[in-house]
Amino acid sequence: MEKTKMLSLIMPAYNEEEVVEYSFECMDKAMKDIGYPYEIIYVNDGSRDSTMKKLRQIAKANPQVKVLSFARNFGHQLAVTCGMDAAKGDALIIIDIDLQDPPEVIKDLVKAWENGADIAYGKRLKREGETIFKKFTAFCYYRLLSAMSANAIPLDTGDFRLIDRKVADVFLKMREHNRFLRGMSAWMGFEAVPVEYVRHERYAGKTKYTLKKMLRLAFDGIIGFSDRPLTLATGVGGFVTALSLAGFVASLICSLTVGLAPWIWGLCGLGLLNGLTLLALGIQGAYMNRMYDELKGRPLYIVGETINLDKE
Ligand code: UDP
Ligand code: MG
Repeated sequence: MEKTKMLSLIMPAYNEEEVVEYSFECMDKAMKDIGYPYEIIYVNDGSRDSTMKKLRQIAKANPQVKVLSFARNFGHQLAVTCGMDAAKGDALIIIDIDLQDPPEVIKDLVKAWENGADIAYGKRLKREGETIFKKFTAFCYYRLLSAMSANAIPLDTGDFRLIDRKVADVFLKMREHNRFLRGMSAWMGFEAVPVEYVRHERYAGKTKYTLKKMLRLAFDGIIGFSDRPLTLATGVGGFVTALSLAGFVASLICSLTVGLAPWIWGLCGLGLLNGLTLLALGIQGAYMNRMYDELKGRPLYIVGETINLDKE
């Protein structure tokens, strides 16, 4: 087997001081065992703890480790994007630093790639050590998303995956700000092969995905890959208009015949209509907000420091 090709392992890190060192040991060993030349790219996403200090030490002793450090927290999806931009490999592997995605599975992703897969993605058979709330919302969300989007986004997958260089090159051309990498990957097409694995508990520390960040990502997924919410607003609006018209006629007849006060109906109807109008406005606002982000055309992220990266 020719091993002249190179692999890039990409890991975003945000306040991960408890896991950085042990995670590096495990990842580096896993990469070494696979046998290809490799680089490990850490993207420090504006950590405020000693993550960067530890990354500096690791990179000093290990030339295969490259570090890009953001000027502030830009979020996981942009950190991964930055890693992809910097990667030189023939295949890029995206993995979380917290060892929830097991490093042993990397070799299975590589095997799928050697067998011709353009994308090999980790499919979670089981999620260990996560709250029932997270498991339940994730289960519902993936199904909702797949029902809404035009391109099939595989169920129960995260960003843990290997992508071939040609897929990475397409990513380099997609510069949208509100990114949902799984959706973008599905949108491109290419041959994607699932590799099943059990998602472990975090090695240490707490999740860095706050509820707010989760919701933002969830909306980016739906809004970026489906226009259904927009048409839904029209559909629901039409239905409610017809319903209120019928209600108006019915309450008019009732008030004329059995003497029911018409304003009770009117009040309920008004409340409902106002709620729906605001909902529709909110949906439009969410799309507009993201359009505005694109119009501004700002860079996706700002790198403040790099280590072991040759400037070209
Ligand atoms: N992460 C990041 N920026 C953020 C939040 C998270 O770079 O704003 C990184 C984090 O360090 C980890 C990965 O993204 O490597 C996944 O985050 P986490 O494990 O907290 O999410 P969960 O697995 O709980 O969904
Ligand atoms: Mg995690």
